[in-house]
Amino acid sequence: WWKMPEGKVIPVRVAVRCRPLIQKEKDEGCQQCLHFIPNEPQVVLGKDKAFTYDYVFNMNDSQKDVYSSCCKSLVDNIFKGYNATILAYGQTGSGKTHSMSGYYEAAIGEEIEDMGVIPRVLRDLFFGIDDRGDCDFTVKVSYLEIYNEDLVDLLCPPSRRETLNIRENIEGGIKIPGLREVQVSSYSETMRCLELGSQGRTTGATAMNNTSSRSHAIFTIHIEQKKKEDMDDACEAKFHLVDLAGSERAKRTRAEGERFKEGVNINMGLLALGNVISALGEDSQRGRHIPYRDAKLTRLLQDSLGGNSHTLMIACISPADSNMEETLNTLRYADRARKI
Ligand code: ADP
Ligand code: MG
Repeated sequence: WWKMPEGKVIPVRVAVRCRPLIQKEKDEGCQQCLHFIPNEPQVVLGKDKAFTYDYVFNMNDSQKDVYSSCCKSLVDNIFKGYNATILAYGQTGSGKTHSMSGYYEAAIGEEIEDMGVIPRVLRDLFFGIDDRGDCDFTVKVSYLEIYNEDLVDLLCPPSRRETLNIRENIEGGIKIPGLREVQVSSYSETMRCLELGSQGRTTGATAMNNTSSRSHAIFTIHIEQKKKEDMDDACEAKFHLVDLAGSERAKRTRAEGERFKEGVNINMGLLALGNVISALGEDSQRGRHIPYRDAKLTRLLQDSLGGNSHTLMIACISPADSNMEETLNTLRYADRARKI
């Protein structure tokens, strides 16, 4: 599925997801500036700006549609030892957190329908573990935030947080000494870690959205699998689930001072991510250089982008004409990630 017919591995798949108009946009009289071509992974902005991706989800597509068409296979591959990364990209308010976590946004009623990618991944992961009685598993989770190029351990109480640094071992593996890794053995236990960590996320008020998240949040599941009858038959994999910071330009949010600095750093991470993804697709014959070191985000994901990894970027967009400029930026960013 992730391979071209000639066996060439596609390092990154790109999905675009458009949310419905929200009440605020309807109240402001916003019009829809996007349309979709039935049964084609295409989106058209305005009259004629057409873009094609690996997947396009429109406002009628459910959380389940998104998960089953492009995320589920990554869980299956985890059991074969492939690392996986799912990144949600887009401007603040475009649906990143809804797509990734979903569940929390549902508040009362906790409808299964609203479950986003992370709870669905966890559910299938623990189902998969139950199905494999011939193996022993160790599952650990960590939850990290990158805020202003600083690493924050979200599973550590704020009073006990220490400065964290990224280290690379001889084999090229990325480690963060001091980062909490919590061993978990069930879906609900893991969801509690996610919930607890999410509550501690750094948020800042901007003109755009007063709960907008100005940081990248990276929830990581580490899975170790060992055959019971042959302990040497083992494999390990990491699954990163990333809710990226808002991609909007600093000027749009009227950011100043501290906020402006955040904006600059955030764009640096997203810029570095775009550059890494482009470089991954270039012809490997030409002794390519992948610029992982340009930002903490790419440094952290270094051993999980390219190589033995499957990556999916979900680019989230709003259909409102008031967001047209940012939507075009997102479509272009996603287009560049795919043209590889
Ligand atoms: P972001 O994390 O990108 O800032 P959110 O996920 O918080 O954006 O979404 C902004 C608002 O839009 C929230 O109220 C959310 O519930 C709603 N929303 C986002 N995506 C969808 C969707 N696919 N269907 C219905 N509502 C959505
Ligand atoms: Mg969010």
